[in-house]
Amino acid sequence: MPKKVVIVGGGFAGLSCARKLANNKNFEVTLVDKQNHHLFQPLLYQVASATLAAPDIARSLRGILCNAKNVSVFLDRIVEVDAEKKTIKGLEQSYSYDYLVIAAGTRTSWFGNDEWQKHTFGLKRLEDAYEIRQSILSSLEKAEIINDPEEQQRLMTVVIVGGGPTGVEIAGAFEDLVQLALHSDFRRIDPTNLRTVLVQSGDRILKSFPESQAKYAQDRLESLGVEIMLNDRVVDVKEDEVTLKSGLVIEAHTIIWAAGQRASRITDTLDTKKDSCERPYVNNDLSLPEYPDIFLAGDVANVIDNNGVEVPGLAPAAVQMGEHLAKLFKEEVRLEKTKYAAQKVSLRPKFSYRDKGIMAIIGKQAAVVSSKKMNLRGSVAWMAWLLIHILFLIGFRNKLSVLLSWSFAYLSKQPGSRVFSIKKA
Ligand SMILES: Cc1cc2nc3c(=O)[nH]c(=O)nc-3n(C[C@H](O)[C@H](O)[C@H](O)COP(=O)(O)OP(=O)(O)OC[C@H]3O[C@@H](n4cnc5c(N)ncnc54)[C@H](O)[C@@H]3O)c2cc1C
Repeated sequence: MPKKVVIVGGGFAGLSCARKLANNKNFEVTLVDKQNHHLFQPLLYQVASATLAAPDIARSLRGILCNAKNVSVFLDRIVEVDAEKKTIKGLEQSYSYDYLVIAAGTRTSWFGNDEWQKHTFGLKRLEDAYEIRQSILSSLEKAEIINDPEEQQRLMTVVIVGGGPTGVEIAGAFEDLVQLALHSDFRRIDPTNLRTVLVQSGDRILKSFPESQAKYAQDRLESLGVEIMLNDRVVDVKEDEVTLKSGLVIEAHTIIWAAGQRASRITDTLDTKKDSCERPYVNNDLSLPEYPDIFLAGDVANVIDNNGVEVPGLAPAAVQMGEHLAKLFKEEVRLEKTKYAAQKVSLRPKFSYRDKGIMAIIGKQAAVVSSKKMNLRGSVAWMAWLLIHILFLIGFRNKLSVLLSWSFAYLSKQPGSRVFSIKKA
């Protein structure tokens, strides 16, 4: 009998696991996701800043797995794990498993201030990126119509909370959008007056990068016109208004929350030890300490790997974890046919993270890349960033379409995805 592997989440971790088990007769794989597509989150900010369109960075899970005959895909939201009965419950149906892989990623965290959610935009889903794009472009449209200078300034102010890679990338992208693309499109307002404020609670941005790289990124953002506020943090958010600990109140129509993450809600139903971001701690083979047949992979888990390294929440790490689990399942099935069957759990391969480095783009033609072997910055890093992101995208169509969109935007200085209409009241 093939082993039933149920995977929750078709992101980087879940999808890589499913692909590695594809067409293997020892496994019957079920992939469940609440969205019908795999999303390339590292390029979400390019949809938010109107450079790319949704189909460039997302692809239907059924389409990706259409040739994997042993993999079934279901559109469902998993709400409960019953570890004793080895079943998970979705809004549509229940699924029983021999092995469960929870690869449900993270969601935005407002650090206990969930009431701020309705006045801010997170950046995790395609919908978030659309909403940000709509907010920026429609603010400029409104500012072009009205005469009140104070109201114009409020409409043309963007506050980004969080100076990690997401905050930095989006700040640079907005400045590029108004300075390179929109600067001559309006008659009454000057879009280059868009005020972009980046708020960071620590004493520097990009704290996962070496200090010199972070300094370069800060100088670069400031030269683009981004106001960076360090050592300050948000203490209140109301509609169109952010209050900082220093007492400063900033009126801004678009407030982007790029400050915190917490594990997907599905982990609420797991009775196990979790960290402050609600991520369960897993063993170094990625199984839960209490349940050897439940595994967590990707951002949803707190993983200390076989070498004692805390695994970061990055796409390559998630892919490696998904692949590791596929290998582990295959190995267990093989051992079941040998005299080592009884020891199969203790003989499981341990997960070791292969660190390929980190990178962040800072507007057009500048980026920082940092790995054990080298640190790059400027246009060389930017080229490396472009190449790696193209290579990592899933599907030839997406690679080609992103390449064409980028080439067009680069040569014409016109981002291709600026179309929107007024929202219904
Ligand atoms: C804006 C942004 C920029 C980023 N930039 C980079 C970058 O430049 N480089 C980099 O390496 N990493 C980057 N990351 C991080 C990277 O995207 C994550 O590390 C990676 O997506 C983690 O993969 P995952 O499979 O764990 O989760 P995800 O890719 O988040 O996938 C989780 C999946 O689970 C599904 N799901 C969640 N809950 C349920 C449920 N209850 N039922 C069913 N399905 C569910 C979701 O719909 C989703 O498809 C970025 C992330 C963001 C948000």
